[in-house]
Order: sequence, then C-alpha cells, then structure tokens
Amino acid sequence: MKPEVIVLGAGSAGLQAARNILERTNLDILVIEEHARIGYPEHCTGLISLNGVKNALRVPLQNLAVNYIHGAYIYSPSGIRLLVARTEPVAVVINRPLYEYMLYKLVADRVKFVLGVKASLANGKVYFRDTTLKPSFIVDARGLQSLTSRRPEARKHVIPALQFDMSARLEEYKYVHVFLGDQFSKGFFAWAVPLDDNRVRIGLASKGNVLLRLKTLANRLEKITNGIIKPTSRLRVLGGAVYTGGLADQVSGTVYYVGDSAGQTKPTTGGGLVYHSYASLYLAEALAKNSQAHYDYSIRRLLGREIKRQLLLRRLLDGMNDKELNELFLVLKRINGEELVSKYGDMDVQTSLLRKLGMELMKREPLFYLRAIPLLFNLLVAQF
Ligand SMILES: Cc1cc2nc3c(=O)[nH]c(=O)nc-3n(C[C@H](O)[C@H](O)[C@H](O)COP(=O)(O)OP(=O)(O)OC[C@H]3O[C@@H](n4cnc5c(N)ncnc54)[C@H](O)[C@@H]3O)c2cc1C
Repeated sequence: MKPEVIVLGAGSAGLQAARNILERTNLDILVIEEHARIGYPEHCTGLISLNGVKNALRVPLQNLAVNYIHGAYIYSPSGIRLLVARTEPVAVVINRPLYEYMLYKLVADRVKFVLGVKASLANGKVYFRDTTLKPSFIVDARGLQSLTSRRPEARKHVIPALQFDMSARLEEYKYVHVFLGDQFSKGFFAWAVPLDDNRVRIGLASKGNVLLRLKTLANRLEKITNGIIKPTSRLRVLGGAVYTGGLADQVSGTVYYVGDSAGQTKPTTGGGLVYHSYASLYLAEALAKNSQAHYDYSIRRLLGREIKRQLLLRRLLDGMNDKELNELFLVLKRINGEELVSKYGDMDVQTSLLRKLGMELMKREPLFYLRAIPLLFNLLVAQF
C-alpha cells in the first residue's frame, strides 16, 4: 500500500476532500478515521443554507433533508423578538450522519479506508498501527483536535456546546429560534431548531456551565417563544465544541489543512460545513497543480475577508451586555431591521448586510450610530 494522498479524518471535511481529489486528479487516496462508524459520534445541528448545499456540499437532498427552514426568530435577552422571514425556504436541516455516509458511499469503491484507527502526523509522515507512510500529500481533516494541538492559543476560541433533541408540540416549525444574552450563553448564543412538528433540537455553546444553561432553556422555552414550542421530553443529548477564532494556517510542507483543523468556520455561528466544502474544492485543485500557494491564496481570497468581518461582529456582540443588546434590538425594530435582514441576509456571506444596516442606522438613528463608532474603532485597533 503506497497511497499518494493520505486524508486524516473522515468527517465532513475529510470526506469532501477525498471526493474532490478523486474527481479532479488520478491520485491514489487513503483515508484514516479513528472511529469505526462513519458519521458518529454525532455533534452537529445540521443547519445549512440551500445555496451552500447546491454549490458547496453538492449532494441530493432526498432522504437527507430533515426540515426546510424559511427564516428565524431572534430574541434579545429581555425577549424582544425580531422575525427574519422569506416565503421560500432558505436553509435545510440535514441528517448529518447520513450525509457523511452518503459521501463515504460516493468514494468507497475507489478510495481505501482504514476505520477505527487513530493516526498521528510528524515531519510529513503518517503513523498508524505499526505502519509509517510518507505520501506526496497529507490532508489533515482531524477537526479541532488538530487545530488546538498545533495552535494552543486557538483554545480560547473553542466553546463547549451541548444539544438536546426533544419531543415537543410545535405550533410552527419552519423557523429556527436564536436566543442572545448572558442567561443562555457567554460568548455565543442558544438555539432551537425544529426537526418537524413534534421534535426540536435545542442547544447552546457557552463559556461556563452548558448543562445548567441548557436545562434552563428547556424549562423556559415555551414561555420565551410565546407558546410556539412546548417541549415535552428529552430524547437524546449531543455534545461538541464550536470554533469562533478565524482562519489558521492552511498549509505546511506537504500537509494541507481543511475543515475545523484549518479554522474554516464562521466566527458568528460556528458553522463549518459550507466553508470547508468550498475549501475542499480548492484543495483538490491545488493538489492537481501541486501548489500549496494556490490553496492558501484561494482560501484567503474566498473566506479571508468575510471571516475577518465576522470576527469583528463576534467581538462586537461579545462586548455588549444584556442592556446594550436589548437597546440594539429596539433600534433595529425602529429602522425596519427585520425587513432589511429578511431581504438581504445571507447565512454564508453574513456581513454584506452590515453596510446596509450601517447606512440605515446613520440615516435614522444617528445618535446610536455615533455611539457605536468608538466601539468599532477600538475593535479595529484590537484586531491589527
Ligand atoms: C453543537 C454544534 C452544532 C453545529 N451546527 C452546525 C450547523 O448547523 N451547520 C454547520 O455548517 N456547522 C455546524 N457545526 C460545525 C460543524 O459541525 C463543524 O464545522 C464540522 O463538523 C467540521 O468538520 P470536520 O470534518 O472539519 O471535523 P469533524 O467533524 O470534527 O471531523 C474530524 C474527524 O477526524 C477524526 N479524527 C480526529 N482525530 C483523528 C486521528 N488522530 N486519526 C484519525 N481520525 C481522527 C474524527 O473522528 C472525526 O471523524 C456545529 C458544531 C457543533 C459543535
């Protein structure tokens, strides 16, 4: 066995990378995954934009789609609610383990898999069981574990997350619910994502006690959502961690990083599937050209600016206390923010909307706008 490419990790990023390399090159590929079963353990909410599914994930949604989503209710700490809504669905909740299994089946007859085996990596060599291999290319898709072992400073941007799947009575199940404020999360937010009219996935990521916070959310969900969601019992618990710290190194020698391992997630929401599926397309191109520079350049051109802006937004939100968040919601209501976000909001290119909101704020709430300028300036200075 002498593969030319070794992919470490058969999560979404590793499998998309294997698939794209297979489609664009004639290289022999070996994938090594530490868990015995593809798709497990499960940790993700599985919410993806429909644009992202079409252009990046490139998988058919029959069998995979659990629920189609038309928008979101966003709640301030005191319960002021913004509704972002479209008539057509904009996103889908997918069955994440099935998605990974589908990717696996797409490549399994032409890619060799070693499952249930942990691999390590040093000096361009891969070690697993009693084997050492030195392939032409290594794709490191081992997730956050790889990122934090290379860059210990990234740990402060890794936020523990917890989810409950709950049976529930839902009056309406085409909108996700997002909750801001200290009681549910420090450094992130909480969510309730309907799976159908009688199941909901509630979750949060937070610094501090996630279990206690999530139990509080479950207990208060009916009241906060004005009776839209009445949870009845807990079906299962999913654990994990989201990363909000921005892009890391993308290449090093013959090693290409992809997915959470490369920091390819949204600092605002922690979502990674769309970004790393796009990234794996460029990864395959770079391997075909044997050009690390092509990968690094393409990722920074594709994701760099958006991720930097999202980092700024993340810091802005983290810097606001509950009172300031409530005030922001009131201002957004006054300037018809709901309409603007509904019209121009994009789950994957989130910050294109900020300019429009900023202009509207300047026009209609100049005092609030002026107060925000020093805050933005401080954040910019802190970033560079
Ligand atoms: C609670 C939660 C909700 C989320 N919701 C969403 C969402 O709705 N939408 C979205 O887009 N993103 C979401 N994300 C983020 C998304 O799940 C991640 O960005 C994505 O899983 C990253 O994929 P990956 O393949 O890079 O890493 P992983 O999914 O972590 O996969 C890494 C793989 O590498 C394997 N591995 C690790 N070490 C080794 C080793 N030494 N040897 C061999 N194999 C190894 C692991 O077993 C695993 O299979 C969520 C994350 C969390 C925690």
